[in-house]
Amino acid sequence: MTNKQVLCSRAEMLGRLKRQDEFDVVVIGAGATGLGVALDAASRGMSVLVVDAQDWAAGRSSRSGKHIGSDIGLLSCPARWGRVREALYERRLLLQNAPSLVRAQNFVIPCRCRLSMALRAVRLALYSLFSSGGRGTHPVSMLGRVGLLGMLPGIERRGLAAGVCFTDAMCDDAALTLSLLKGAVAYGAVAVNRMRMIDAEADGRRVTSVVLQDGETGRKMKVRARTVFNCAGVWADDVRRMVDVTSGRLIGIERRSYIVVDRTFMPTGNALYLPGGCGRKRPLTITPWQGRLLIGSTASDQGQAPIDPQVTEDEVRLLIESANRILSRKIRPEDVRARFAGLHAAIGVKGLDNGRGYAVVTEFSNMFTVAGGSLTLYRAKAEAAIDEAVRRHLLPRYGCMTRSMRLDGASQVAMEALQKKLLASETPSDELLKELEDFAAQQFAGTNARTADDVLQRRLRIGELDSARAEQLRPVVQAQIDALKAQEAAAG
Ligand SMILES: Cc1cc2nc3c(=O)[nH]c(=O)nc-3n(C[C@H](O)[C@H](O)[C@H](O)COP(=O)(O)OP(=O)(O)OC[C@H]3O[C@@H](n4cnc5c(N)ncnc54)[C@H](O)[C@@H]3O)c2cc1C
Repeated sequence: MTNKQVLCSRAEMLGRLKRQDEFDVVVIGAGATGLGVALDAASRGMSVLVVDAQDWAAGRSSRSGKHIGSDIGLLSCPARWGRVREALYERRLLLQNAPSLVRAQNFVIPCRCRLSMALRAVRLALYSLFSSGGRGTHPVSMLGRVGLLGMLPGIERRGLAAGVCFTDAMCDDAALTLSLLKGAVAYGAVAVNRMRMIDAEADGRRVTSVVLQDGETGRKMKVRARTVFNCAGVWADDVRRMVDVTSGRLIGIERRSYIVVDRTFMPTGNALYLPGGCGRKRPLTITPWQGRLLIGSTASDQGQAPIDPQVTEDEVRLLIESANRILSRKIRPEDVRARFAGLHAAIGVKGLDNGRGYAVVTEFSNMFTVAGGSLTLYRAKAEAAIDEAVRRHLLPRYGCMTRSMRLDGASQVAMEALQKKLLASETPSDELLKELEDFAAQQFAGTNARTADDVLQRRLRIGELDSARAEQLRPVVQAQIDALKAQEAAAG
Protein backbone atom coordinates (compact mmCIF):
# COMPACT_ATOMS: atom_id res chain seq x y z
CA MET A 1 0.00 0.00 0.00
CA THR A 2 1.20 3.47 -0.71
CA ASN A 3 1.38 6.11 1.95
CA LYS A 4 -0.92 8.41 0.05
CA GLN A 5 -3.46 10.28 2.16
CA VAL A 6 -6.97 9.71 0.92
CA LEU A 7 -8.97 12.88 1.20
CA CYS A 8 -12.67 12.37 0.77
CA SER A 9 -15.45 14.34 2.46
CA ARG A 10 -18.48 12.72 4.04
CA ALA A 11 -20.68 14.36 1.35
CA GLU A 12 -18.58 12.71 -1.39
CA MET A 13 -18.83 9.37 0.40
CA LEU A 14 -22.62 9.73 0.62
CA GLY A 15 -22.69 10.47 -3.12
CA ARG A 16 -20.72 7.29 -3.84
CA LEU A 17 -23.02 5.29 -1.57
CA LYS A 18 -26.13 6.52 -3.42
CA ARG A 19 -24.63 5.71 -6.82
CA GLN A 20 -23.81 2.10 -5.99
CA ASP A 21 -26.61 -0.42 -6.27
CA GLU A 22 -25.15 -3.39 -4.41
CA PHE A 23 -21.96 -4.16 -2.43
CA ASP A 24 -20.08 -7.43 -2.19
CA VAL A 25 -19.33 -6.67 1.44
CA VAL A 26 -21.28 -4.46 3.86
CA VAL A 27 -19.52 -3.95 7.19
CA ILE A 28 -21.49 -2.75 10.22
CA GLY A 29 -19.24 -1.03 12.76
CA ALA A 30 -16.04 0.86 12.03
CA GLY A 31 -13.78 0.08 14.95
CA ALA A 32 -10.52 -1.72 14.31
CA THR A 33 -12.35 -5.00 13.58
CA GLY A 34 -14.80 -3.54 11.04
CA LEU A 35 -12.21 -1.39 9.30
CA GLY A 36 -9.82 -4.36 9.29
CA VAL A 37 -12.52 -6.38 7.50
CA ALA A 38 -13.16 -3.48 5.10
CA LEU A 39 -9.44 -3.16 4.30
CA ASP A 40 -9.01 -6.89 3.83
CA ALA A 41 -12.01 -7.16 1.49
CA ALA A 42 -11.28 -3.96 -0.48
CA SER A 43 -7.65 -4.99 -1.01
CA ARG A 44 -8.87 -8.34 -2.38
CA GLY A 45 -10.78 -6.35 -5.04
CA MET A 46 -14.28 -6.57 -3.55
CA SER A 47 -16.77 -3.69 -3.46
CA VAL A 48 -17.08 -2.62 0.18
CA LEU A 49 -19.32 -0.38 2.24
CA VAL A 50 -18.41 0.24 5.89
CA VAL A 51 -20.67 2.28 8.18
CA ASP A 52 -20.57 3.32 11.80
CA ALA A 53 -23.37 4.72 13.93
CA GLN A 54 -20.84 7.04 15.62
CA ASP A 55 -17.39 8.26 14.64
CA TRP A 56 -14.64 5.86 13.53
CA ALA A 57 -13.15 4.16 16.61
CA ALA A 58 -15.69 5.81 18.93
CA GLY A 59 -16.45 2.44 20.53
CA ARG A 60 -13.74 0.52 22.30
CA SER A 61 -11.18 1.10 19.52
CA SER A 62 -10.27 4.44 21.08
CA ARG A 63 -10.73 3.31 24.70
CA SER A 64 -8.34 0.36 24.90
CA GLY A 65 -5.22 -0.08 26.99
CA LYS A 66 -3.20 0.70 23.77
CA HIS A 67 -1.22 -2.49 24.35
CA ILE A 68 -0.21 -4.62 21.37
CA GLY A 69 0.67 -8.13 22.48
CA SER A 70 -0.85 -10.94 24.45
CA ASP A 71 -2.12 -11.37 27.99
CA ILE A 72 0.90 -12.89 29.74
CA GLY A 73 -1.48 -14.52 32.24
CA LEU A 74 -2.36 -17.00 29.46
CA LEU A 75 1.16 -18.45 29.65
CA SER A 76 0.17 -20.42 32.76
CA CYS A 77 -2.27 -22.51 30.71
CA PRO A 78 -0.71 -24.63 27.91
CA ALA A 79 -4.12 -24.88 26.17
CA ARG A 80 -3.92 -21.10 25.60
CA TRP A 81 -0.40 -21.03 24.14
CA GLY A 82 -1.74 -21.03 20.58
CA ARG A 83 -3.64 -17.85 21.43
CA VAL A 84 -0.48 -16.20 22.80
CA ARG A 85 1.47 -17.25 19.71
CA GLU A 86 -1.14 -15.79 17.37
CA ALA A 87 -1.16 -12.44 19.21
CA LEU A 88 2.63 -12.28 19.12
CA TYR A 89 2.66 -13.08 15.40
CA GLU A 90 0.25 -10.17 14.83
CA ARG A 91 2.40 -7.95 17.06
CA ARG A 92 5.39 -8.72 14.83
CA LEU A 93 3.38 -7.81 11.71
CA LEU A 94 2.22 -4.55 13.28
CA LEU A 95 5.74 -3.56 14.34
CA GLN A 96 6.86 -4.23 10.78
CA ASN A 97 3.88 -2.76 8.85
CA ALA A 98 2.97 0.21 11.06
CA PRO A 99 6.26 1.52 12.45
CA SER A 100 4.97 5.04 13.11
CA LEU A 101 1.82 3.77 14.86
CA VAL A 102 3.06 0.80 16.87
CA ARG A 103 6.23 0.97 18.95
CA ALA A 104 8.07 -1.60 21.05
CA GLN A 105 7.64 -1.05 24.79
CA ASN A 106 9.55 -2.50 27.75
CA PHE A 107 7.42 -3.83 30.60
CA VAL A 108 9.02 -4.44 33.99
CA ILE A 109 7.58 -6.74 36.67
CA PRO A 110 8.91 -5.91 40.16
CA CYS A 111 9.46 -8.96 42.40
CA ARG A 112 9.80 -9.31 46.17
CA CYS A 113 12.41 -12.08 46.01
CA ARG A 114 14.84 -13.64 43.59
CA LEU A 115 12.92 -16.93 43.50
CA SER A 116 9.75 -15.24 42.26
CA MET A 117 11.89 -13.37 39.71
CA ALA A 118 13.36 -16.64 38.44
CA LEU A 119 9.91 -18.30 38.19
CA ARG A 120 8.47 -15.33 36.28
CA ALA A 121 11.50 -15.20 34.00
CA VAL A 122 11.12 -18.88 33.10
CA ARG A 123 7.47 -18.37 32.20
CA LEU A 124 8.22 -15.22 30.26
CA ALA A 125 11.01 -16.99 28.36
CA LEU A 126 8.13 -18.77 26.61
CA TYR A 127 6.78 -15.36 25.62
CA SER A 128 10.10 -14.53 23.93
CA LEU A 129 10.16 -17.95 22.33
CA PHE A 130 6.64 -17.58 20.91
CA SER A 131 7.21 -14.05 19.68
CA SER A 132 9.81 -14.89 17.02
CA GLY A 133 11.13 -11.38 17.39
CA GLY A 134 9.73 -8.13 16.05
CA ARG A 135 11.27 -4.71 15.42
CA GLY A 136 12.62 -3.25 18.67
CA THR A 137 11.77 -6.23 20.87
CA HIS A 138 14.32 -7.90 23.21
CA PRO A 139 14.51 -11.26 24.93
CA VAL A 140 13.37 -11.41 28.56
CA SER A 141 15.98 -10.17 31.01
CA MET A 142 16.35 -10.53 34.80
CA LEU A 143 17.12 -7.45 36.86
CA GLY A 144 18.81 -7.08 40.21
CA ARG A 145 17.49 -4.51 42.69
CA VAL A 146 19.63 -1.72 41.27
CA GLY A 147 18.62 -2.56 37.70
CA LEU A 148 14.95 -2.65 38.70
CA LEU A 149 15.03 0.72 40.45
CA GLY A 150 16.98 2.17 37.51
CA MET A 151 14.32 1.04 35.06
CA LEU A 152 11.39 2.13 37.22
CA PRO A 153 12.35 5.34 39.00
CA GLY A 154 9.51 6.54 41.18
CA ILE A 155 8.51 3.17 42.60
CA GLU A 156 8.50 2.36 46.29
CA ARG A 157 11.89 0.76 47.04
CA ARG A 158 10.90 -1.06 50.22
CA GLY A 159 10.43 -4.83 49.88
CA LEU A 160 11.58 -5.10 46.28
CA ALA A 161 14.51 -7.39 45.51
CA ALA A 162 14.56 -7.91 41.75
CA GLY A 163 12.59 -7.65 38.53
CA VAL A 164 11.93 -9.13 35.11
CA CYS A 165 11.81 -7.11 31.91
CA PHE A 166 10.00 -8.20 28.74
CA THR A 167 9.10 -6.32 25.59
CA ASP A 168 5.68 -5.83 24.06
CA ALA A 169 4.30 -2.91 22.06
CA MET A 170 2.06 0.12 22.43
CA CYS A 171 0.02 2.09 19.92
CA ASP A 172 -2.37 4.96 19.53
CA ASP A 173 -5.48 2.80 19.08
CA ALA A 174 -7.64 5.44 17.36
CA ALA A 175 -4.78 6.42 15.01
CA LEU A 176 -4.26 2.77 14.11
CA THR A 177 -7.98 2.45 13.41
CA LEU A 178 -7.95 5.61 11.26
CA SER A 179 -5.02 4.23 9.28
CA LEU A 180 -7.18 1.18 8.46
CA LEU A 181 -9.91 3.55 7.28
CA LYS A 182 -7.44 5.35 5.00
CA GLY A 183 -6.19 2.03 3.65
CA ALA A 184 -9.70 0.73 2.96
CA VAL A 185 -10.73 3.97 1.21
CA ALA A 186 -7.50 3.94 -0.85
CA TYR A 187 -8.57 0.52 -2.11
CA GLY A 188 -11.98 1.90 -3.11
CA ALA A 189 -14.16 1.20 -0.05
CA VAL A 190 -17.09 3.52 0.61
CA ALA A 191 -16.97 4.55 4.28
CA VAL A 192 -19.63 6.64 6.04
CA ASN A 193 -19.59 7.55 9.71
CA ARG A 194 -22.69 8.54 11.69
CA MET A 195 -24.70 6.06 9.62
CA ARG A 196 -26.53 3.50 11.75
CA MET A 197 -27.89 0.17 10.63
CA ILE A 198 -31.47 0.12 11.93
CA ASP A 199 -32.99 -2.85 10.16
CA ALA A 200 -32.35 -5.66 7.69
CA GLU A 201 -34.27 -7.58 5.08
CA ALA A 202 -33.90 -11.29 4.50
CA ASP A 203 -35.50 -13.65 1.99
CA GLY A 204 -35.73 -16.54 4.43
CA ARG A 205 -32.32 -17.94 3.42
CA ARG A 206 -30.03 -14.93 3.38
CA VAL A 207 -29.85 -11.27 4.30
CA THR A 208 -30.57 -9.31 1.13
CA SER A 209 -30.24 -5.72 2.32
CA VAL A 210 -29.62 -3.50 5.30
CA VAL A 211 -31.52 -0.36 6.19
CA LEU A 212 -29.34 2.56 7.25
CA GLN A 213 -30.20 5.84 8.88
CA ASP A 214 -28.08 8.96 8.47
CA GLY A 215 -27.35 10.29 11.98
CA GLU A 216 -27.09 13.87 10.67
CA THR A 217 -30.21 14.17 8.50
CA GLY A 218 -32.35 11.31 9.78
CA ARG A 219 -32.78 10.05 6.17
CA LYS A 220 -33.13 6.31 5.68
CA MET A 221 -31.82 4.21 2.81
CA LYS A 222 -31.76 0.59 1.83
CA VAL A 223 -28.51 -0.98 0.60
CA ARG A 224 -28.30 -4.39 -1.08
CA ALA A 225 -25.56 -6.66 0.19
CA ARG A 226 -24.06 -9.97 -1.00
CA THR A 227 -22.53 -10.46 2.46
CA VAL A 228 -22.91 -8.62 5.77
CA PHE A 229 -20.13 -8.49 8.37
CA ASN A 230 -21.37 -7.62 11.83
CA CYS A 231 -18.43 -5.92 13.58
CA ALA A 232 -20.49 -3.91 16.04
CA GLY A 233 -18.45 -4.90 19.12
CA VAL A 234 -20.57 -4.87 22.27
CA TRP A 235 -23.59 -3.97 20.11
CA ALA A 236 -23.22 -7.04 17.86
CA ASP A 237 -26.20 -8.81 19.46
CA ASP A 238 -28.43 -5.78 18.71
CA VAL A 239 -27.44 -6.04 15.04
CA ARG A 240 -28.13 -9.80 15.03
CA ARG A 241 -31.59 -9.16 16.50
CA MET A 242 -32.36 -6.75 13.63
CA VAL A 243 -32.10 -9.78 11.36
CA ASP A 244 -33.69 -12.31 13.70
CA VAL A 245 -35.50 -11.09 16.81
CA THR A 246 -35.13 -14.53 18.40
CA SER A 247 -31.29 -14.45 18.31
CA GLY A 248 -29.75 -15.46 21.63
CA ARG A 249 -26.93 -13.68 23.40
CA LEU A 250 -23.43 -14.07 21.98
CA ILE A 251 -21.57 -11.23 23.68
CA GLY A 252 -20.73 -10.76 27.38
CA ILE A 253 -19.98 -7.18 28.37
CA GLU A 254 -17.49 -5.89 30.95
CA ARG A 255 -16.46 -2.28 31.67
CA ARG A 256 -12.76 -1.52 32.03
CA SER A 257 -11.52 1.80 33.32
CA TYR A 258 -8.27 3.79 33.18
CA ILE A 259 -6.90 7.01 34.62
CA VAL A 260 -4.16 9.27 33.23
CA VAL A 261 -1.63 11.17 35.34
CA ASP A 262 1.59 13.12 34.73
CA ARG A 263 4.75 11.26 33.81
CA THR A 264 6.49 12.76 36.87
CA PHE A 265 5.04 10.00 39.08
CA MET A 266 7.20 7.46 37.24
CA PRO A 267 9.61 9.39 35.01
CA THR A 268 10.74 6.67 32.62
CA GLY A 269 10.01 5.23 29.22
CA ASN A 270 9.45 1.78 30.76
CA ALA A 271 6.09 0.40 31.79
CA LEU A 272 5.26 -1.33 35.04
CA TYR A 273 3.26 -4.56 35.08
CA LEU A 274 2.12 -5.90 38.43
CA PRO A 275 0.21 -9.19 38.37
CA GLY A 276 -2.79 -9.08 40.73
CA GLY A 277 -2.09 -5.40 41.46
CA CYS A 278 -5.56 -4.01 40.78
CA GLY A 279 -8.40 -5.56 42.81
CA ARG A 280 -10.20 -8.78 41.87
CA LYS A 281 -6.89 -10.28 40.71
CA ARG A 282 -6.53 -7.84 37.78
CA PRO A 283 -2.98 -6.81 36.86
CA LEU A 284 -2.01 -3.21 37.41
CA THR A 285 -0.26 -1.55 34.47
CA ILE A 286 1.35 1.87 34.55
CA THR A 287 2.38 2.66 31.01
CA PRO A 288 3.99 5.75 29.48
CA TRP A 289 1.68 7.02 26.76
CA GLN A 290 1.98 10.30 24.80
CA GLY A 291 3.97 11.98 27.55
CA ARG A 292 1.63 10.85 30.35
CA LEU A 293 1.07 7.68 32.39
CA LEU A 294 -1.86 5.43 31.66
CA ILE A 295 -2.96 3.49 34.73
CA GLY A 296 -5.32 0.55 34.45
CA SER A 297 -7.44 -1.26 34.59
CA THR A 298 -10.42 -2.16 36.72
CA ALA A 299 -13.01 -4.60 35.41
CA SER A 300 -16.71 -4.44 36.35
CA ASP A 301 -19.76 -6.24 35.02
CA GLN A 302 -21.90 -4.13 32.74
CA GLY A 303 -25.44 -5.20 31.82
CA GLN A 304 -26.34 -2.85 29.00
CA ALA A 305 -23.91 -1.19 26.58
CA PRO A 306 -24.14 2.61 26.81
CA ILE A 307 -22.64 4.66 23.97
CA ASP A 308 -20.31 6.57 26.28
CA PRO A 309 -19.47 4.41 29.33
CA GLN A 310 -18.23 6.40 32.31
CA VAL A 311 -15.59 5.69 34.95
CA THR A 312 -17.13 5.62 38.43
CA GLU A 313 -15.60 7.37 41.46
CA ASP A 314 -15.05 3.95 43.07
CA GLU A 315 -13.02 2.86 40.06
CA VAL A 316 -10.90 6.01 40.21
CA ARG A 317 -10.32 5.38 43.91
CA LEU A 318 -9.32 1.75 43.30
CA LEU A 319 -6.89 2.74 40.54
CA ILE A 320 -5.29 5.45 42.70
CA GLU A 321 -5.00 3.11 45.70
CA SER A 322 -3.50 0.34 43.56
CA ALA A 323 -0.94 2.66 41.95
CA ASN A 324 -0.08 4.29 45.30
CA ARG A 325 0.85 0.89 46.74
CA ILE A 326 3.80 0.78 44.35
CA LEU A 327 4.62 4.46 43.65
CA SER A 328 6.72 6.42 46.12
CA ARG A 329 5.07 9.80 45.33
CA LYS A 330 1.40 9.33 46.00
CA ILE A 331 -1.28 10.25 43.46
CA ARG A 332 -4.09 12.44 44.81
CA PRO A 333 -7.54 12.58 43.16
CA GLU A 334 -6.77 16.07 41.84
CA ASP A 335 -3.68 14.71 40.02
CA VAL A 336 -5.88 12.68 37.68
CA ARG A 337 -5.73 14.47 34.33
CA ALA A 338 -8.21 12.28 32.50
CA ARG A 339 -10.18 9.07 32.85
CA PHE A 340 -11.88 6.82 30.36
CA ALA A 341 -13.78 3.54 30.25
CA GLY A 342 -14.33 1.05 27.48
CA LEU A 343 -16.62 -1.92 27.10
CA HIS A 344 -14.96 -5.26 26.66
CA ALA A 345 -16.92 -7.64 24.43
CA ALA A 346 -16.03 -11.19 25.32
CA ILE A 347 -17.63 -14.21 23.72
CA GLY A 348 -20.48 -15.16 26.02
CA VAL A 349 -20.98 -18.69 24.67
CA LYS A 350 -18.61 -21.35 25.98
CA GLY A 351 -16.44 -23.16 23.44
CA LEU A 352 -17.49 -21.03 20.46
CA ASP A 353 -13.99 -19.62 19.97
CA ASN A 354 -12.10 -22.94 19.93
CA GLY A 355 -9.67 -21.40 22.41
CA ARG A 356 -8.71 -18.49 20.09
CA GLY A 357 -10.48 -15.73 22.02
CA TYR A 358 -12.51 -14.70 18.97
CA ALA A 359 -14.96 -16.34 16.61
CA VAL A 360 -16.62 -15.74 13.26
CA VAL A 361 -20.25 -16.80 13.62
CA THR A 362 -22.22 -17.40 10.42
CA GLU A 363 -25.98 -16.86 10.42
CA PHE A 364 -28.49 -16.70 7.54
CA SER A 365 -25.71 -18.16 5.36
CA ASN A 366 -24.30 -14.70 4.48
CA MET A 367 -24.11 -12.75 7.76
CA PHE A 368 -20.84 -13.06 9.68
CA THR A 369 -20.57 -11.78 13.23
CA VAL A 370 -16.99 -11.22 14.34
CA ALA A 371 -17.06 -11.62 18.11
CA GLY A 372 -14.42 -11.23 20.82
CA GLY A 373 -10.68 -10.83 20.35
CA SER A 374 -8.34 -7.92 20.90
CA LEU A 375 -7.13 -4.90 18.98
CA THR A 376 -3.86 -6.79 18.41
CA LEU A 377 -5.82 -9.46 16.54
CA TYR A 378 -7.86 -7.12 14.31
CA ARG A 379 -6.05 -8.31 11.13
CA ALA A 380 -6.30 -12.01 11.97
CA LYS A 381 -10.02 -11.62 12.74
CA ALA A 382 -10.57 -9.80 9.44
CA GLU A 383 -8.71 -12.43 7.43
CA ALA A 384 -10.66 -15.24 9.14
CA ALA A 385 -13.99 -13.50 8.50
CA ILE A 386 -13.41 -12.83 4.79
CA ASP A 387 -11.92 -16.31 4.30
CA GLU A 388 -15.08 -17.80 5.81
CA ALA A 389 -17.25 -16.01 3.23
CA VAL A 390 -14.85 -17.11 0.46
CA ARG A 391 -15.04 -20.69 1.72
CA ARG A 392 -18.82 -20.54 1.41
CA HIS A 393 -18.46 -19.34 -2.23
CA LEU A 394 -20.09 -16.01 -1.42
CA LEU A 395 -17.04 -13.96 -2.40
CA PRO A 396 -14.36 -14.49 -5.08
CA ARG A 397 -11.33 -16.58 -4.11
CA TYR A 398 -8.65 -13.86 -3.97
CA GLY A 399 -5.87 -14.24 -1.39
CA CYS A 400 -5.45 -12.04 1.66
CA MET A 401 -2.96 -9.19 1.19
CA THR A 402 -2.78 -7.64 4.62
CA ARG A 403 0.12 -9.61 6.12
CA SER A 404 2.66 -7.49 4.30
CA MET A 405 0.60 -4.32 3.86
CA ARG A 406 2.10 -1.08 5.18
CA LEU A 407 -0.31 1.04 7.21
CA ASP A 408 -0.36 4.78 6.69
CA GLY A 409 0.99 6.59 9.74
CA ALA A 410 2.41 9.54 7.81
CA SER A 411 0.37 12.13 9.70
CA GLN A 412 1.11 10.69 13.15
CA VAL A 413 4.33 12.65 13.74
CA ALA A 414 2.68 16.01 12.89
CA MET A 415 -0.33 15.14 15.06
CA GLU A 416 1.86 14.22 18.03
CA ALA A 417 3.83 17.47 17.64
CA LEU A 418 0.62 19.52 17.77
CA GLN A 419 -0.71 17.43 20.66
CA LYS A 420 2.48 18.04 22.63
CA LYS A 421 2.33 21.81 22.09
CA LEU A 422 -1.35 21.97 23.10
CA LEU A 423 -0.75 19.95 26.25
CA ALA A 424 2.25 22.05 27.22
CA SER A 425 0.70 25.48 26.80
CA GLU A 426 -1.73 26.71 29.44
CA THR A 427 -2.69 29.74 27.34
CA PRO A 428 -2.25 28.72 23.72
CA SER A 429 -0.99 31.49 21.42
CA ASP A 430 -3.07 32.69 18.45
CA GLU A 431 -0.58 30.94 16.21
CA LEU A 432 -1.11 27.64 18.02
CA LEU A 433 -4.89 28.03 17.92
CA LYS A 434 -4.65 28.67 14.17
CA GLU A 435 -2.69 25.42 13.87
CA LEU A 436 -5.47 23.67 15.78
CA GLU A 437 -8.12 25.15 13.46
CA ASP A 438 -6.16 24.00 10.41
CA PHE A 439 -5.86 20.52 11.91
CA ALA A 440 -9.63 20.42 12.54
CA ALA A 441 -10.28 21.51 8.93
CA GLN A 442 -7.95 18.83 7.61
CA GLN A 443 -9.69 16.17 9.67
CA PHE A 444 -13.14 17.43 8.63
CA ALA A 445 -12.19 17.07 4.96
CA GLY A 446 -9.96 14.00 5.19
CA THR A 447 -11.29 11.74 7.91
CA ASN A 448 -14.86 13.05 8.29
CA ALA A 449 -14.47 14.54 11.76
CA ARG A 450 -17.94 16.02 12.41
CA THR A 451 -17.81 17.22 16.03
CA ALA A 452 -15.33 18.78 18.44
CA ASP A 453 -15.08 15.39 20.21
CA ASP A 454 -14.12 13.68 16.96
CA VAL A 455 -11.14 16.05 16.74
CA LEU A 456 -10.17 16.34 20.42
CA GLN A 457 -10.83 12.75 21.54
CA ARG A 458 -10.02 10.55 18.57
CA ARG A 459 -7.76 12.60 16.23
CA LEU A 460 -5.68 14.57 18.77
CA ARG A 461 -6.30 12.44 21.88
CA ILE A 462 -6.32 15.54 24.08
CA GLY A 463 -9.55 14.43 25.78
CA GLU A 464 -7.91 11.19 26.86
CA LEU A 465 -4.75 12.90 28.08
CA ASP A 466 -6.08 16.03 29.77
CA SER A 467 -9.82 16.54 30.00
CA ALA A 468 -9.55 20.12 31.34
CA ARG A 469 -7.35 21.12 28.38
CA ALA A 470 -9.84 19.49 25.99
CA GLU A 471 -12.66 21.57 27.49
CA GLN A 472 -10.53 24.73 27.17
CA LEU A 473 -9.93 24.03 23.45
CA ARG A 474 -13.45 22.81 22.66
CA PRO A 475 -14.98 26.22 21.70
CA VAL A 476 -12.22 26.86 19.12
CA VAL A 477 -12.67 23.45 17.51
CA GLN A 478 -16.47 23.62 17.69
CA ALA A 479 -16.51 27.04 15.96
CA GLN A 480 -14.28 25.72 13.18
CA ILE A 481 -16.43 22.60 12.67
CA ASP A 482 -19.63 24.70 12.65
CA ALA A 483 -18.13 27.04 10.01
CA LEU A 484 -17.07 24.10 7.84
CA LYS A 485 -20.50 22.49 8.13
CA ALA A 486 -22.14 25.79 7.12
CA GLN A 487 -19.86 25.99 4.04
CA GLU A 488 -20.71 22.39 3.18
CA ALA A 489 -24.44 23.09 3.47
CA ALA A 490 -24.12 26.20 1.29
CA ALA A 491 -22.27 24.21 -1.37
CA GLY A 492 -25.26 21.79 -1.39
C1 LIG B 1 -11.11 -1.03 28.20
C2 LIG B 1 -10.56 -1.89 27.12
C3 LIG B 1 -9.20 -2.08 27.04
C4 LIG B 1 -8.66 -2.84 26.01
N1 LIG B 1 -7.32 -2.94 25.91
C5 LIG B 1 -6.78 -3.62 24.88
C6 LIG B 1 -5.38 -3.66 24.73
O1 LIG B 1 -4.64 -3.07 25.51
N2 LIG B 1 -4.87 -4.36 23.68
C7 LIG B 1 -5.67 -5.00 22.78
O2 LIG B 1 -5.14 -5.63 21.85
N3 LIG B 1 -7.03 -4.95 22.88
C8 LIG B 1 -7.59 -4.28 23.88
N4 LIG B 1 -8.96 -4.18 24.00
C9 LIG B 1 -9.81 -4.75 22.94
C10 LIG B 1 -9.89 -3.76 21.76
O3 LIG B 1 -10.24 -2.47 22.19
C11 LIG B 1 -10.88 -4.22 20.68
O4 LIG B 1 -10.69 -5.58 20.41
C12 LIG B 1 -10.63 -3.47 19.38
O5 LIG B 1 -10.64 -2.09 19.59
C13 LIG B 1 -11.65 -3.85 18.32
O6 LIG B 1 -12.89 -3.34 18.64
P1 LIG B 1 -14.12 -3.56 17.68
O7 LIG B 1 -13.86 -2.93 16.38
O8 LIG B 1 -14.46 -5.00 17.66
O9 LIG B 1 -15.30 -2.82 18.46
P2 LIG B 1 -15.57 -1.26 18.57
O10 LIG B 1 -14.33 -0.45 18.48
O11 LIG B 1 -16.40 -1.05 19.78
O12 LIG B 1 -16.41 -0.94 17.27
C14 LIG B 1 -17.76 -1.29 17.13
C15 LIG B 1 -18.44 -0.17 16.37
O13 LIG B 1 -19.73 -0.59 15.95
C16 LIG B 1 -20.52 0.55 15.87
N5 LIG B 1 -21.94 0.16 15.83
C17 LIG B 1 -22.64 -0.44 16.81
N6 LIG B 1 -23.91 -0.65 16.39
C18 LIG B 1 -24.00 -0.18 15.13
C19 LIG B 1 -25.07 -0.09 14.18
N7 LIG B 1 -26.31 -0.53 14.46
N8 LIG B 1 -24.83 0.49 12.98
C20 LIG B 1 -23.58 0.96 12.68
N9 LIG B 1 -22.55 0.91 13.57
C21 LIG B 1 -22.75 0.34 14.76
C22 LIG B 1 -20.14 1.35 17.11
O14 LIG B 1 -20.47 2.70 16.97
C23 LIG B 1 -18.65 1.09 17.20
O15 LIG B 1 -17.88 2.15 16.67
C24 LIG B 1 -9.51 -3.45 25.05
C25 LIG B 1 -10.90 -3.28 25.15
C26 LIG B 1 -11.42 -2.51 26.18
C27 LIG B 1 -12.89 -2.33 26.26
